[in-house]
Amino acid sequence: MSEQPIDTCMEKIVSLCKRRGFVFQSSEIYGGFNGFWDYGPYGIALKRAVERQWWLYMVEKRNNVVGLDSSIICHPKVWKASGHVDRFGDIMCDCKQCKTRFRVDQMPDPTTCTNCGSKDLTPPREFNLMMKTYVGPVFDEEHIAYLRAETCQPIFLDFHSIRIATRMQLPFGIAQVGKAFRNEITPRMFTFRSREFSQMEMEFFCADEGSMEWFEYWRQERWNFYLNVLKFPVEKLHLHPHDKLAHYAKAAVDIEYEFPFGWGELEGIHHRGTWDMSQHQQFSEQDLQYLDQTNNTRYLPTVVETSVGLDRMVLAILCNAYDEDRAPTQKEGMEDDVRVVLHFPATIAPVQVAFLPLSKKLNQNAQDLQAKFLGRYRTELDVTGNIGKRYRRQDEIGTPYCVTFDFDSLEDNAVTVRERDSMAQERIPIDNLRAYLDEKVLG
Ligand code: ATP
Repeated sequence: MSEQPIDTCMEKIVSLCKRRGFVFQSSEIYGGFNGFWDYGPYGIALKRAVERQWWLYMVEKRNNVVGLDSSIICHPKVWKASGHVDRFGDIMCDCKQCKTRFRVDQMPDPTTCTNCGSKDLTPPREFNLMMKTYVGPVFDEEHIAYLRAETCQPIFLDFHSIRIATRMQLPFGIAQVGKAFRNEITPRMFTFRSREFSQMEMEFFCADEGSMEWFEYWRQERWNFYLNVLKFPVEKLHLHPHDKLAHYAKAAVDIEYEFPFGWGELEGIHHRGTWDMSQHQQFSEQDLQYLDQTNNTRYLPTVVETSVGLDRMVLAILCNAYDEDRAPTQKEGMEDDVRVVLHFPATIAPVQVAFLPLSKKLNQNAQDLQAKFLGRYRTELDVTGNIGKRYRRQDEIGTPYCVTFDFDSLEDNAVTVRERDSMAQERIPIDNLRAYLDEKVLG
């Protein structure tokens, strides 16, 4: 992406997302609701495609990871056992002058307001991030429940049910994609820090012996996902090992991405030891040990976790895809305007193939052609505006292939396929179109 001031670049991405219906504020007609976002038609297509790629990579292409879709609200004791009720909070302070609130651990100098420079700050206070609700007819302390703050806890609870049902033996993993909720004090940077978001987590259960090898394995696998599936350039990624480890953890590393506003955590890979299973064993008073039949021993499984926010991943994909160029535009006979283009990989583009009739008279022909591909690729029929404008529009939503049906198509039974990044155009016989697009779009 061309070098641009941070704010401008982020503003452009946010404004494109709204203009083209990728992502916009929730409850906009009421002035919005901070930390909550809605995904429009292109946004949800992108989000689903990304989730699909993650699921393929983490579950369907492996023999040793299975899936789960658990409830969002579970027994309140779960969050007591996990430590979220007592300890899941951020230490915050407020500037008495400009009223800005900060997470103390994110302040370059915790004695000085980052916004106005004042030293008049409130003492640091802890804010719990759990979202509370009530379950049942009475709204009192006894009926408090929590919206899950992470998707992994139910995985620990269901470990034995899943193990028995699937006859899986250690080592194996359980993956889940779903909503998580955190009452973030300062939601910011568009969807980067939201109050409602989706997580994609995988908990890998193994014996303690050999668990560090599994940690290394999953760190490498997740790194490869960003390079090979999402096609992120390696210089935009960074591995950040944690300096301070939780007392139960053997190792932890974050995969960071260089957003326009700086480096930010995308994903965490954590060696969690037996902490989660032992906490739930203690609080539930159930024996959660695993019987290892190979050597007839019983032990609590050790867990290696990979945890990423789907919304944060989508934001990184949008930032990585966003580009503006000028020169090549002239080749297509347009004014020297800026071509905004999202360079999504074809596998995750919200629209993979757009069908463009050159004239209104050809609308039906283009639609008939599109009908042959519905359900095979994500497609769109784009009939309004001149062809140059339609190409720009498709570039802006990141469509990798545009198929133009023109008057010659009626004679030669061929169409023009225009590729987004090179803008190269190729004449393809309609009979070969499926094979041609399959190779390009499905890989
Ligand atoms: P942070 O330090 O950014 O608050 P965290 O270390 O608390 O994140 P985890 O609890 O490890 O994050 O959650 C795993 C992943 O879930 C993060 O790497 C991130 O991608 C995503 N995530 C966490 N909090 C949010 C949020 N408020 N909004 C969007 N995604 C989030």
